[in-house]
Amino acid sequence: MTRPIRADIDLTAIRHNLLVSKNKAPNAKAYAVIKADAYGHGALQVARALEDNADGFALLRLEDALALKEAGIRRPLVLLEGAFDYEELAAMAEHGIAGAFHSPYQLDWLDRLPAGLRVKGWLKINSGMNRLGFRPEVLLDILNRLKAHPALRLSAIMTHFATADDPRGIGRQWPAFAKAAADSGLPVCAANSAALFRYPETHGTFVRPGVCLYGCSPFEGQTGSELGLKPAMTLSADIIAVQNLDSGESVGYGCGFTADKPTRLGVVACGYADGYPRVAPNGTPVTVDGAPSSLVGRVSMDMLTVDLSHLPQAGIGSRVELWGPHVPLETVARHAGTISYELMCAVAPRVPRAWQDN
Ligand SMILES: *Cc1c(COP(=O)(O)O)cnc(C)c1O
Repeated sequence: MTRPIRADIDLTAIRHNLLVSKNKAPNAKAYAVIKADAYGHGALQVARALEDNADGFALLRLEDALALKEAGIRRPLVLLEGAFDYEELAAMAEHGIAGAFHSPYQLDWLDRLPAGLRVKGWLKINSGMNRLGFRPEVLLDILNRLKAHPALRLSAIMTHFATADDPRGIGRQWPAFAKAAADSGLPVCAANSAALFRYPETHGTFVRPGVCLYGCSPFEGQTGSELGLKPAMTLSADIIAVQNLDSGESVGYGCGFTADKPTRLGVVACGYADGYPRVAPNGTPVTVDGAPSSLVGRVSMDMLTVDLSHLPQAGIGSRVELWGPHVPLETVARHAGTISYELMCAVAPRVPRAWQDN
């Protein structure tokens, strides 16, 4: 017997979503972003499912890249933040893993690489996000230093957008980056999911789709289905108890819901320790055996409660979809005051995952 909760990952949907993304940017190569364990979907499973169609994979941690290589993934890999120390840089050179160079201290490590070792670098430009990257003003100095460096092969120039997903768009960042890219003569990589869907001028040589691969829209107020994407993750759990409340009775911590009429509740084997957001309020949608219902009362660590008053046939063992094809992750995220990204990454290790590929 196991606790009745699971996350089903639909690899066919992820493959479909990559093809939709590639159709949006038909002339660019697509590096599928699989950081954070492929946004909670399983980096190795996703990489295997996409290997025929993705041109490369973008990740964060060297150890994850090495694990993919070890498992036989042959597509190019790039580390979005590059090396975190000299040993990582040396390992990247040795294993042919590319990485971003965003700060002077990473460039200094190049001088220490043993003769004959060469690393592939993606030069990161800070075009206004102000997290990582060199400012466009110093581009020419850096290129002068790097283009002749025997330990480096510059393979791309990249940047990242702060507002490609909202009405402010890329106008503040794109002109400066486009000029730097043209000056550098390097292959261009700028588009995240939002820019991929909205700003064809950014497609360049490589695009970096992330959240859209997992079926979610990067845009507020628009679901992935509206962009032609298919949801990839279904989080579901069973009802393990039923409570009948009289009018005036409450459920859960803080008595977060009080019945104003006789109310039948289902207690579901999913809580915030599974990754369901504790802040999700009364009324957040779920389905129970496919029928629409909603959250009532506060989410606890290991349980949450849903309304069964209108579902007399539902009871112990009924399956509750917390998010998935019938309950868009974007909708749950909106109720919880966050974004789909955070919820998909937060599914806890104790939730068993099952991968389907048709
Ligand atoms: C995470 C990430 C992406 C993917 O972003 P999405 O919004 O999920 O498409 C692209 N580029 C960089 C540098 C990232 O860190």
